[in-house]
Amino acid sequence: MNLILIGPPGVGKGTQAELLEKRIGLKTLSSGVIFRQEIEAETDLGRLAKRYIDHGRLVPSGVTIEMMAKRIRSAEARKNGFILDGFPRAIDQAVALSEMEEDMDTVIDAVISLEVPDEILVSRLSGRVGCTKCGAIYHMTNKPPKRDWVCDNCNSPLFVRSDDQPDAIQQRLQIFHDTTMPVVSYYEGMGMLTRVDARQEPEKVYLDILAAAAARESKASQ
Ligand SMILES: [Zn+2]
Repeated sequence: MNLILIGPPGVGKGTQAELLEKRIGLKTLSSGVIFRQEIEAETDLGRLAKRYIDHGRLVPSGVTIEMMAKRIRSAEARKNGFILDGFPRAIDQAVALSEMEEDMDTVIDAVISLEVPDEILVSRLSGRVGCTKCGAIYHMTNKPPKRDWVCDNCNSPLFVRSDDQPDAIQQRLQIFHDTTMPVVSYYEGMGMLTRVDARQEPEKVYLDILAAAAARESKASQ
């Protein structure tokens, strides 16, 4: 089973991808993680991407598409299926993915749009603090550290990431609405989209995702 998870920052995509990976063995292909891996491994694509990032510019879609294509083709992704996270992020990437499916003889079974109103996302994101040393993430109201501003794991001080400052949060949500919502419409037009209410408990969201994927799979096999 191959899935695309779409959702704004703070919607809980990471949590759901983790559950899907742990319980049914889907391989998460997260564009952010893959970027970092390619850059660290200093591959040609990684070096190219880094040049744009170092100049404060967006990595062109062509580079992103090539990086993702490489992972989608991998044996690891093909074994039990995969979850795409952070890709396709814009309409040209969605079109490229449709072409890839034909070339690679791979099928996306379902596209899941995880949805939460913006006000709730803002409150979820704005309480977030992170440990710069071990990467642990806490939330001042939902998941507070045992001691204020100190990491439970490694006793390092906690910080609000620059991405989670109020202005940055508004900007991230705006970018999501502008560039990624057309992708949602694209898949809706193709009859592949299921909207899932991500205000629910993570466990219930997980079950909704599985149900949506199963429904699409049985429809496709008829
Ligand atoms: Zn820590």
